[in-house]
Amino acid sequence: MIDETHDLKRRSWVASANGHGDFPIQNLPLGIFRPPGGSARGGVAIGDEILDLAQALDQGLFQDQAGEAAAAAAGPTLNPLLALGATARQALRRRLVELLDANGKDAAAHAARAARILHRAADCTLELPAAIGDYTDFYAGIHHALNVGRLFRPDNPLLPNYKHLPIAYHGRTSSIRPSGAAVRRPNGQRKRPEEETPSFGPCRNLDYELELGIWIGPGNADGTPIPIAEAPRHIAGLCLLNDWSARDIQAFEYQPLGPFLAKNFLTTLSPWLVTVEALAPFRCAPEPRDAGDPKLLAYLQDGADEKAGAFDITLEVLLNTSGLRAAGRPPQHLAQGTTRDLYWTVAQMVAHHTSGGCNLAAGDLFGSGTISGTARTALGSLLELTRGGREPLTLASGEQRGFLEDGDEVIFRAACHREGYASIGFGECRGTIHPSP
Ligand code: CA
Repeated sequence: MIDETHDLKRRSWVASANGHGDFPIQNLPLGIFRPPGGSARGGVAIGDEILDLAQALDQGLFQDQAGEAAAAAAGPTLNPLLALGATARQALRRRLVELLDANGKDAAAHAARAARILHRAADCTLELPAAIGDYTDFYAGIHHALNVGRLFRPDNPLLPNYKHLPIAYHGRTSSIRPSGAAVRRPNGQRKRPEEETPSFGPCRNLDYELELGIWIGPGNADGTPIPIAEAPRHIAGLCLLNDWSARDIQAFEYQPLGPFLAKNFLTTLSPWLVTVEALAPFRCAPEPRDAGDPKLLAYLQDGADEKAGAFDITLEVLLNTSGLRAAGRPPQHLAQGTTRDLYWTVAQMVAHHTSGGCNLAAGDLFGSGTISGTARTALGSLLELTRGGREPLTLASGEQRGFLEDGDEVIFRAACHREGYASIGFGECRGTIHPSP
């Protein structure tokens, strides 16, 4: 729901928040951070600062339901807050807006406390927002599925189940890391088409996948599916997700059970959970299904979801290399995608995931699947952009890239824009490739 917290005219006494590309007062994403010399705790990004929820509670700045929510978010993980659900998050958001508004009732008194309740974000370390119990990676980017399908099955790129249900596999949580974590090139069994037998060694075709991360709120008891109309209550917020992929290892190992070592070495997340409340102005209808698409079964159908179940978020991929750095050039823009290219909504993912009785828990994570568009400028992986490495990119430095080299840094960004509303962003999801161990 769009309300007074989204008011475009609202400004904060935290000066860096006003006009901030990612974190103006209309966003207020939640995360876990460590201030210098301090322990991990919950915080809220506001401009170039982080509001320390534990210290703000100590200052008596939260009461009632907002106080319960702030206390649930102030510890070393956001899981207790995610378990509380939307009403608690909304109360926290309304109170945060009051606290940080330049024209709020006690703005001068709050600003006078700034040194006690704010930390410079640049001095802090950001952690994962939650202890992730389970992680599921979907495959909802239909143009990615088509592009990859065409590489392997030119006549029949989309498998027959694709438009009937949101496909996914259960991923690995132990190797999910926040932005900035080192990306160690994995070793594994690789086999080029012309080789007779596989060899063990460093991945030769290391790739990224541009995805949306979806944070699950309260969850359900096992055996109790979440109906699609109730699914939005179980979606707390979004982040960026890089599903690093070892394409050569994947190609040899994936049949018949899907990716294993090709994906389980690392998944990187942007550290701020952008709440669904902050994203309310950027909801939109999913792209209409083609006339010939199969009719959806009832458990995947919902009127509200058909009206506003999708998100309008613009995603960007940048690459930095030693050559670009040496030439004094900025990271090179590789692609721009949009979450409107997802064939399935997050509510459909939740409804389908739980339809067989599987229980979701607060702090579970979904990946959307790689987000690609139809244009060459909107491809969310190098596999697509370089056609499996056969058509390498030439960078502004003159370097060529089929896949990632050691020392390369991949940067994802995301932003939401809509006329009449403050633009908000997600912060960055970064990772630099290190040589295999
Ligand atoms: Ca993926």
